[in-house]
Amino acid sequence: MSFDYDLFVIGGGSGGVRAARIAAMEGASVALAEEDRMGGTCVIRGCVPKKLMVFASGFPRAIEDARAYGWDARAGRFDWPAFRTKLHAELDRLEGIYRSNLEKAGVTIYDSRATVAGPQAVRLQDGRQITARHILIATGGRPFIPDEFADLPVMSSNDVFLMEALPRSVLIVGGGYIACEFACILNGLGVEVTQYYRGAQILRGFDDEARGHVAQSMMADGVTLCLGTDVLDIEAGAEGTAGRFTVRSTDGQERRFDAVLFATGRRPNSEGLGLEEVGVRMGRFGAVEVDASSQTAVPTIHAIGDVTDRINLTPVAIREGQAFSETVFGGRPSRADHDLVPSAVFTQPELGSVGLTEEAARSREPVDIYATSFRAMHSAFAGRSDRVMMKLVVSQATGRVLGCHIVADHAGEMIQLAAIAIKMGATKADFDRTVAVHPTMAEELVTMKAPVRSG
Ligand code: NDP
Repeated sequence: MSFDYDLFVIGGGSGGVRAARIAAMEGASVALAEEDRMGGTCVIRGCVPKKLMVFASGFPRAIEDARAYGWDARAGRFDWPAFRTKLHAELDRLEGIYRSNLEKAGVTIYDSRATVAGPQAVRLQDGRQITARHILIATGGRPFIPDEFADLPVMSSNDVFLMEALPRSVLIVGGGYIACEFACILNGLGVEVTQYYRGAQILRGFDDEARGHVAQSMMADGVTLCLGTDVLDIEAGAEGTAGRFTVRSTDGQERRFDAVLFATGRRPNSEGLGLEEVGVRMGRFGAVEVDASSQTAVPTIHAIGDVTDRINLTPVAIREGQAFSETVFGGRPSRADHDLVPSAVFTQPELGSVGLTEEAARSREPVDIYATSFRAMHSAFAGRSDRVMMKLVVSQATGRVLGCHIVADHAGEMIQLAAIAIKMGATKADFDRTVAVHPTMAEELVTMKAPVRSG
């Protein structure tokens, strides 16, 4: 039987684009459909614009520090519309690069929604049916807003990048990556930020001590963080009025905000794709179930990235896409490695993390904990009270470093490098025999002498 293409990719985010390019470079005929903008969540409404906003939000503090270092520096007004215009020009540029890279690789692009019409067939929005030997689902995820608030004019992370003006005050609901990152960003940009998190501490899943450290820093920086607090109901007044949203919460308070941002998680983007109809099995919240090779219950259909709800990070989706195409079209069987994946939360300060938390490690085996907390040279001189935190979780049996957790400016950069050593199986002794780079913050990672806790 002949097919229109060897591979049809649904979704033009980081994972889908990587898979399409690799397959095409291996000589496969490839098509990719994207219903929105090329680049997906990471490029258009996630990592990239978020990081640029992180940079923008860091300047008031940098200017304060500059004054402490002897400069006659003063922060003027932040021009959100000017920044936003530049931000979107940059996203347009990046989208163009994604598109042209696909074209250069010989991938046919359909700017259309596509759904699965059979194990080896897709249907475009205009009704055209296309056949393919393999189908790859790379449709990512989307923000989730609890049903009771979904019809209100509240924001999700998608909307933040499109705001006409910065609100004077905002309520952020949630305690995950996105909630904490936007709390810091908006706080840095001068918005009065209140954050409600229903649990006892933000950033569930990360090392407990690191979570506490980030929370304290956020509060010291001016974020009103209300733990154990959830929204009961929201009343929205007329658009444009100050304090438009009246929010009643579980702590018995009624507060008013100009804007409300729900950062209450994301859901796999699998609805209405026709997957169940052809026999693909779906898991919690519509996650596409796959095996270690990203293959679904239908052998000709694979899925990668956030739609599979494994580790929802861009570089992981890229690895999954690459492994899929190398295996299926390159004749080089490979699997994405989901072990010891480092990540960073771009709060201020950042939290960089790789491997086991202290709590997870303790539940598995006896461990030694090496930890330090200190005022970094740069901020101590500037008169800031914030402290850096570093922790190594070490197996007593093997001496291997099982986890590393850093709360500091640039922790994202530091954890990337520490992760290489840890991925290679470095022991605490390996860290110890590495000479410090002085004076840096990261040198503390190789100079922690005695465990602070064992057991
Ligand atoms: P998370 O799953 O990290 O956090 C969701 C938060 O919302 C949790 O605090 C959760 O509480 C809370 N929540 C969920 N449902 C409700 C509800 N009904 N009412 C009140 N609170 C609720 O999701 P995010 O949206 O922050 O991020 C999604 C994923 O995107 C991340 O897991 C990460 O993989 C990725 N990401 C990575 C980034 C990075 O690498 N820097 C940046 C941004 C996103 P609870 O803890 O109690 O469940």
